[in-house]
Amino acid sequence: MNLGGKSVLVVGLGSTGEALCSFLLNHGAQVKVSEKKAPEEMSQKISSWEQKGVTVEAGTHDKKSFLEADLIVPSPGVPWLPELEAARANGVKIISEIELAYRHLKGKIIGITGSNGKSTTATLTQKILEEGGLKTYLAGNIGTPLISFVDKSEDDHVYVTEISSFQLEHIEEFRVSVSVLLNISPDHLDWHPSFEDYYNAKKKLIITQRENDVAILNRDDPLVWALKEEGKFQVFSFSRNGKVSPGCFLNGEWIVLSNKEEKKLIRTSVIPLLGIHNQENIMASALVGHVLGIPPSRIKEPIKSFRGLEHRLEKVTSIREVDFYDDSKATNVDATSKSIQSFDRGIILILGGRDKGGDFKKLRKPVKEKVKRIILLGEAKEKIKTALEGIVPMEAVSSIEEAVRLGYSHAKAQEVVLLAPACTSFDMFQNFEERGEAFKREVLSLEKELGKEGS
Ligand code: ADP
Repeated sequence: MNLGGKSVLVVGLGSTGEALCSFLLNHGAQVKVSEKKAPEEMSQKISSWEQKGVTVEAGTHDKKSFLEADLIVPSPGVPWLPELEAARANGVKIISEIELAYRHLKGKIIGITGSNGKSTTATLTQKILEEGGLKTYLAGNIGTPLISFVDKSEDDHVYVTEISSFQLEHIEEFRVSVSVLLNISPDHLDWHPSFEDYYNAKKKLIITQRENDVAILNRDDPLVWALKEEGKFQVFSFSRNGKVSPGCFLNGEWIVLSNKEEKKLIRTSVIPLLGIHNQENIMASALVGHVLGIPPSRIKEPIKSFRGLEHRLEKVTSIREVDFYDDSKATNVDATSKSIQSFDRGIILILGGRDKGGDFKKLRKPVKEKVKRIILLGEAKEKIKTALEGIVPMEAVSSIEEAVRLGYSHAKAQEVVLLAPACTSFDMFQNFEERGEAFKREVLSLEKELGKEGS
């Protein structure tokens, strides 16, 4: 795509927006940014881009800027603004950052998507490919935007890319050599008009794939498995429930790789990552390694040493044999449900925040099985309370600090206080990281007050 002299509008000036500006300037485009945040909130950033020749409009989206552009690149997460609709109706091309990157990138792209587990799986996959001796990079939300790699990319590079439904919304030709579809459950229904729309966005990752490409699909998720019919790609699958081939499955205490012959890969007892959902992520990552020709003995090593990412079912500490876990990233019902199922002991569960349109009734079953008491927090308190009425005692608090202390006061030795809110953090925090940090800080200060043994 020739960008020289083209007038390109970047919507949003977060990290992807900034990466886009650098790339576009390098390629000779006339760059304008439209950012809804007030100019006072980002004055330094604005002036530094203006010095480099970018025009920045902040605090408002001017429809004229959208209509006048030759090309618009919205940052991930930017909603379907009326200005974007108007531009599209006027024939202005709108593409996402990954589409623009794809048009210029050398090397292979491994695309990982799903409602949950993308970051964990992408991180582990990249470690496996690295162990296998490939020149590999982690791109997307968790790493560096794909566009930042373009100008240094080479044919033998492999980009492990975490891809959200937002980024898939505006793709045209974007095609990955290996796709991974982990799971599809309702998420971001505050952004997508319907579940069908969200599903269709996820589907876009695989429908552009061709005969030599591989799709790695979760055999146990009917919505994912149904997608095997959607293209000509080769299918590999993974399952916790039964044998699959070619693919990867759980057989008793072993994770087994199967393609022509079966090969035991690793015993589940030596895997440090907690939870059945992580077994799925591991099988998906192992399959990417397998498809790229890495021997099982190599694939196994990073799986044995990977302890997971911060705020994803992360153990904070134990106080008087009560374990505290931070799963602040569990921002939807499915992630929280998996989080609860990861424990085989009593849980005091901290739930709530800003509702993303989730169906909290789906938590009734796991709560009944494992949870002793629920502590409610944030805007969604009442909605959750109504959905989960009558199973276990529920108490509302007004801060995460209060939640930690109340949780501890109810927990007995061997039990777990778990932050897995099933909601976003935006009602009280900047993001899930800040919420997780606040939780951990309070847990550690409680530990300090009580002494490690809680005497
Ligand atoms: P994403 O990048 O898709 O948001 P993360 O790896 O950051 O995924 O994990 C997000 C949340 O989902 C965490 O709470 C984590 O414990 C949970 N999770 C991780 N993998 C899965 C999975 N395969 N199925 C369901 N929940 C998962």
